[in-house]
Amino acid sequence: QLSAGRGSTASAAPKQEKTVFGPLKDEDRIFTNLYGRPRLAPEGGHTKEIVLKGRDWITNEMKVSGMRGRGGAGFPTGLKWSFMHKPDDGRPRAWHLQDREIMRHDPHTLVEGCLVSGVAMGGQAAYIYIRGEFYREACTLQAAINEAYDAGFLGKNACGSGYDYDIYVHRGAGAYICGEETSLIESLEGKAGKPRLKPPFPADVGVFGCPTTVNNVETIAAAPTVCRRGGAWFASFGRDRNRGTKLFNISGHVNNPCTVEEEMSITMKELIERHAGGVIGGWDNLLAVIPGGSSTPLIPKNVCDTVLMDFDSLVQAQTALGTAALIVMNKQADVVKCIARLMDFYKHESCGQCTPCREGTGWMMRLTNRFEIDLLWEVSKQIEGHTICALGDGAAWPAQGLIRHFRPELERRMAEFAAKNSTKTGSSQS
Ligand code: SF4
Repeated sequence: QLSAGRGSTASAAPKQEKTVFGPLKDEDRIFTNLYGRPRLAPEGGHTKEIVLKGRDWITNEMKVSGMRGRGGAGFPTGLKWSFMHKPDDGRPRAWHLQDREIMRHDPHTLVEGCLVSGVAMGGQAAYIYIRGEFYREACTLQAAINEAYDAGFLGKNACGSGYDYDIYVHRGAGAYICGEETSLIESLEGKAGKPRLKPPFPADVGVFGCPTTVNNVETIAAAPTVCRRGGAWFASFGRDRNRGTKLFNISGHVNNPCTVEEEMSITMKELIERHAGGVIGGWDNLLAVIPGGSSTPLIPKNVCDTVLMDFDSLVQAQTALGTAALIVMNKQADVVKCIARLMDFYKHESCGQCTPCREGTGWMMRLTNRFEIDLLWEVSKQIEGHTICALGDGAAWPAQGLIRHFRPELERRMAEFAAKNSTKTGSSQS
């Protein structure tokens, strides 16, 4: 019985603030299939029992769990779902998602999550939006959905609950910007994936004009387990405002790149050393880490030594949890080149609607390559907060992080660059 021990609801009541987190025990993991282990038998009720408890009960459990969206923005999930609780206006309601490992190894968890969260929001259908390149994952997911239909979990009278619910898989064309919710909606509607101005917000006017909630796959896939074990169980992990378990993806200069579920607020050092085999060359060989995917500012080793992997600790360190995809750079990495490469990426992925983003991302790439520090800072500030969607900010922040933490290195490279150029000019004049 999983209700005993570390994760029990009974032990969740007043809890002392901790400073040391993890390691997470296997029985407390939500995504057990990611590790090639058989799924633990669902305790505390099957899908139908959860569905029959209804939307208010499910939404309330999500509120009690304290879960914040796992896609990057960290908005409280239960609250977001409650925005869909309004008088029925006769229109169909739909909601949508856009995560690879879960779809590859644990697709049934996602299918069940779609149904449970759909019931919570009064939805009639879920669209799972997946990158076009992830062909095999789309096939795996579709097979799991077909199995669910065959077993009567989906479709008319889903799970015998009297509730009708459908799930569709939509393959995109591989644009990064389609991870942005309004751009994803445009793409689902068959148009070019370009973000919309808000308001109106998707909860009022979303896909095909229907009220829509866009959630990250991890958030949705965790919902059934939260309902089975209880919101208080989930809230017993992590610390205040940073509750639950979380999938972390660790790549770059580590001995064992991996995706692992851990307790929120684990220290970055423990996460990397315990699960990714440590930094290549040892912890002292660490230069910097981008903690939450390409749009979060990098932090240098001295900050990495103590930072916790959660929303608040990383914001305090002037970066963000983002998608919790850590990119580790050791001292053999050329940090300036890495950030210039990121700028190139954003230049390529900009949809071109806003001038600061369309023009600024290319400028930032060239300025980074020329080590023009002050102008780079200025341009990044002109982009930040002046665009339709968050891609502009996501491009500006890594440049600001580079200047904030590696200014001496940029100045050294700038001096080298100037000396080299003046030698060239001198020799061509002579
Ligand atoms: Fe497009 Fe960039 Fe503007 Fe977003 S910020 S709408 S990606 S141009």
